[in-house]
Amino acid sequence: MSNSSQPIILVTGGAGYIGSHTVLCLEQAGYRVIVLDNLVYGHQDVVESALEAKLIVGDICDRTLLDQIFQTYPIAAVIHFAAYAYVGESVQNPAKYYRNNVMGTLTLLEAMVAASVKRLVFSSTCATYGVPQQVPIPETHPQAPINPYGQSKLMVEHMLRDFDKAYDFRSVCFRYFNAAGADPEGRLGEDHNPETHLIPLALLTALGQRESLSIFGTDYPTPDGTCVRDYIHVADLASAHVLGLEYLLKGGNSDIFNLGNGDGFSVRQVIDAAEKVTGQTFNVVEIDRRPGDPPALVGSSDRARKILGWQPQYADLITMMQHAWQWHQKRHE
Ligand code: UDP
Repeated sequence: MSNSSQPIILVTGGAGYIGSHTVLCLEQAGYRVIVLDNLVYGHQDVVESALEAKLIVGDICDRTLLDQIFQTYPIAAVIHFAAYAYVGESVQNPAKYYRNNVMGTLTLLEAMVAASVKRLVFSSTCATYGVPQQVPIPETHPQAPINPYGQSKLMVEHMLRDFDKAYDFRSVCFRYFNAAGADPEGRLGEDHNPETHLIPLALLTALGQRESLSIFGTDYPTPDGTCVRDYIHVADLASAHVLGLEYLLKGGNSDIFNLGNGDGFSVRQVIDAAEKVTGQTFNVVEIDRRPGDPPALVGSSDRARKILGWQPQYADLITMMQHAWQWHQKRHE
């Protein structure tokens, strides 16, 4: 950590994919950062090699640890990523999701209120909308999640609304669409274990690390029968978090913003883009739908642009794919 005059930001889950890119963006903006991560899915080596942040290995469910952190460091605000985020797993094992994502977050919020740290940027999700009635989806769209992952995030949104009224606790919730890509300079990237996400799986197939890529369902009511998603560059998500933080630090009221590009790409279109960028043709297998997947999720991010002044820099799917490919190639050299 450097720049001792700058406020300290606690980033839970800062050793994960979106968290680590946000820490980098915070550091570039001059903030001092403490990462709290239990390293179940986060990467210690990423924090140690690519970031300046101090890493505290621990869990958001550990109230004693949280109290210690808030007593030890003058934390101005928290950016909260720590969560389980596998849609399919959440359908199989909802208890894991409610325990960590809901109870863990409640523990964090209670510790924050006790320490009078009352500003939080929360990573919510478009999965809180369920099957959309209209696209692009505005923030005012009804929320009816169809999987426990989305439900767990929606419960936190409700807690934050109530905390605002009761404790003057201000939050910004970002409902992300599909995070994609990697740091344009190749310092960070997407590395889940197990990997379940479409773009990294496509690139791992191109690298010969997987024999084939599965398409989960070809009978959706979409133009080519495969699911449609709105992909957003992880560096653009990261910059939105810094803007959301600054909005709160300047005294902004609690608010909720979608973060997407407003363009939908089907699974087949994503595979075409991956083949174009990698110059490879994959073995593609069509299998059943994955439980919990809505047919199409595309968001309107006009509010984030208008209120936060957010400007995505890498809205193009091919650019996201190129950055992801650059990182995967480097990593597997
Ligand atoms: N998907 C797929 N094959 C895979 C992984 C994902 O067809 O091996 C589909 C999935 O059903 C969804 C889209 O690709 O419609 C994006 O899935 P991903 O897991 O990347 O993100 P999610 O939408 O779950 O956040």
